[in-house]
Amino acid sequence: MAKSCCSTTEPQNPVKQTSCCSSTQVLQHETEQSEKTECCSSDATKSEAEDDCCSLTPVMANENTEKSSCCSSSVTTSNPVTISTDDCSREEFRVYGMDCPACAATIEKSLTSKENINEVHVNYSTGKMTVTSTEELEFESIQKQMKRLGFEVEPIKTNNNVKNYIIEGMDCGSCALTIENHLNTLPSVQHVQVNFSTGKMKIEHDNSPEEIVKEVSKAGFKASLITANRQSTSPTRANNQNGAVIFSGVLIALGFIGSYTGISTSLTTAMYAIAMIISGFKPVKSAYYAIRSRSLDMNVLMSAAAIGAAFLGEWLEGATVVWLFALGLNLQNRAIEKTRKSIRGLMELTPPEAWVKVGEDIIKKPVEDVSVNDVIIVKPGDRIPLDGEIIDGESSVNQAAITGESIPVDKGIGNLVYAGSINEHGSLTVNVTKLVEDTTIAKIIHLVEEAQEKKAPSEAFIDKFARIYTPVVFLLALLVMLVPPLVAFGTWEEWIYKGLMLLVIACPCALVISTPVAIVTALGNAAKHGVLIKGGTFLENAGSINAIAFDKTGTLTEGKPKVTDVVVFNDSEENLLSIARTLEEYSTHPIAKTVVQYAKEKGIQAKNGTNFRNLAGKGVQATINERTYSAGNIKLFAEIGTPMDTHLETIQRLQDEGKTIIIIGTSETILGVICVSDTIRKTTKLSIENLTKIGVKQVVMLTGDNEGTAKAIALEAGVNRHFSELLPEDKVEAIKQLQKEGYQVAMVGDGINDAPALATANLGIAMGGAGTDTAMETADIVLMADNLEQLPHTMKLSRKALRIIKQNIWFSLIVKAIALLLIFPGWLTLWIAVLSDTGAALIVILNALRLVRVKS
Ligand code: ADP
Ligand code: MG
Repeated sequence: MAKSCCSTTEPQNPVKQTSCCSSTQVLQHETEQSEKTECCSSDATKSEAEDDCCSLTPVMANENTEKSSCCSSSVTTSNPVTISTDDCSREEFRVYGMDCPACAATIEKSLTSKENINEVHVNYSTGKMTVTSTEELEFESIQKQMKRLGFEVEPIKTNNNVKNYIIEGMDCGSCALTIENHLNTLPSVQHVQVNFSTGKMKIEHDNSPEEIVKEVSKAGFKASLITANRQSTSPTRANNQNGAVIFSGVLIALGFIGSYTGISTSLTTAMYAIAMIISGFKPVKSAYYAIRSRSLDMNVLMSAAAIGAAFLGEWLEGATVVWLFALGLNLQNRAIEKTRKSIRGLMELTPPEAWVKVGEDIIKKPVEDVSVNDVIIVKPGDRIPLDGEIIDGESSVNQAAITGESIPVDKGIGNLVYAGSINEHGSLTVNVTKLVEDTTIAKIIHLVEEAQEKKAPSEAFIDKFARIYTPVVFLLALLVMLVPPLVAFGTWEEWIYKGLMLLVIACPCALVISTPVAIVTALGNAAKHGVLIKGGTFLENAGSINAIAFDKTGTLTEGKPKVTDVVVFNDSEENLLSIARTLEEYSTHPIAKTVVQYAKEKGIQAKNGTNFRNLAGKGVQATINERTYSAGNIKLFAEIGTPMDTHLETIQRLQDEGKTIIIIGTSETILGVICVSDTIRKTTKLSIENLTKIGVKQVVMLTGDNEGTAKAIALEAGVNRHFSELLPEDKVEAIKQLQKEGYQVAMVGDGINDAPALATANLGIAMGGAGTDTAMETADIVLMADNLEQLPHTMKLSRKALRIIKQNIWFSLIVKAIALLLIFPGWLTLWIAVLSDTGAALIVILNALRLVRVKS
């Protein structure tokens, strides 16, 4: 199952994609056909522009296969490294026999030293190894090498046995581990990954889902298979738990009051014992499975503490411990369930049924039964059920659910509409373009859920910390219980009690969830505002950004320039435009499209051109009647040595008016100049203002355009610095320059010709994600809308998330430290220890939930 690098969907490493997939810059005539396809796919960012570009394409027979490779190549036309897509292969393996994280590093080192292997990544916690190589991998040779190191290895085949389940009843990160460990003992389970923050389990198994559900319930949790797109979680479990917690709380209270009113001790003890059994049943059951799978989770520690207390005759204390534990978990569960549901809630925005046109009739059908190219009718006021293209009708559509845009967008024939958006008025006839599982909103949900499962750097650190902390404190607890009484220093009771407290303190629960809960919540909030953040890492990066660079064309401006002047120096206007059309017809640049459109409108035909060449950042060239003609900027003509002196003054004047000029000519003479000008987006100014307001220190514009135009646009947009006349590689240098000045730089582009700069920046942000799959895959953060409206919100949100994560980490560490210190003067009691653990965890969750409320 060697995957080509280009189709890899791993977004964390844009640099890798760039180097793997870059295509050559020179577009020869021979490659005309595939290049045209590239034009179509890259144009998809601007949905409106799509069809006029595609209509140029004569043959699109193998459109699908072409697109996937050309999408990514079009992104990177300016990268000098050329490795064809077939040169990279990526395979995944399962590794057996790793019993420490150090083993992973050993394997990585040893395999990377093999020739033709580029990159090896071994994940200790999942037992998975990913190998990227320049050639088709030979499994035998890898197997041999691994055997020598003492590990077994097996290729992972893509199969349909990977299923997703929702898990209910998980209270802490360690529960996820318990489920994983338990299921891993089953021979029919090949791989399992449980994510606490999202409440989901991804598992590969050959036995029936019923058996998996049964096994999970043995460990004390409820699993339900996720089918298709819809999955509602039942609240029953929480209610059951509520009953148990309330009942045992009442029993403890009665027992406590009873002990002061002269009820016999055996009766109060019985009450405490019953309370313990009721609220302790689940933790003890989970503890049993945790021990069997050799993990020391909070259930084990708490159960040991409670049983120990009862053993010491401290029944009230034991019951309180268990009860507080159950209560804390219950409250935590309710709080966290909110975030877990928030993303799934997005799916509920799409109606389950659609009105489908069948012949003359209009029939209501479940969306699952609607296929591509079916025609559906969307009535005014209804939500749009599926992605499609409008073939009849006009309306304004509120697509806030997908793009976060506050203002409805006017749409008419030829425009794309997305499932989940609202048709405000006017009936629309829509040709369906995506199946229900492939809609943009479904893809958003999928990407966000995947992003939520990735660990941020701070999380990885905490996991490491917890992995050491818990066993160390556990060992310490054992020593405290045994050593002092053995050397006859104090009584057994006294020291066992102290040891039990240490057991409770050994639970790192609050710390372990401090980061993931904040990240999951923030990513969910962003998604609701039409912003895809590809993982906690990028959220953390975004939180520390203090300079933002924008590409000019198509990002700050509409990217739809208009022709303003045609100045003829030599020759007729008709001939000038005809040459311009010929040259520009093969370019995908917004300027090129404008010129072609203009010539077309004037009814001017193209000539016979050959040897088309695209000079990134400069212009285009082609041969017409055995002469080489060029269209581009001054830089290009200076390079080919055309004498310009006589026209320089005119050209300068036009540039100073803020226009982009396209000079047409040969190496001997300039025939004329076409001027275009691009308007800045309505939302640009306000967005930049807001960015400055929230404290982004440098707002920079990067452009390949001339200084005159750059200055005019910079002033209008309100950026405080601009770099002009940049070639694509200069944009990379500009980013590096900002980094050298000490800034953490984010780059915002349309993801089409600025991929190298996006990859160089500390954070790459692409715009217009709703219209194209390419943008969605190349950047770290994707703004679904085709404007910058949600960028300030994203920066605000990530800064707040970073703050909350820091608060949470410090808070949980300090609470633990205080609890530890209180042991020595003897001020800590068992129930305070429990409260400090479950209470702190609850506070950490509630603190993270503040991120739900961050508004734009
Ligand atoms: P940006 O996206 O920042 O405007 P580009 O690198 O896309 O920068 O383009 C830089 C400049 O190169 C344009 O302003 C224009 O002068 C010239 N240029 C690029 N492509 C073409 C083209 N197809 N036709 C004419 N001029 C072009
Ligand atoms: Mg550009």
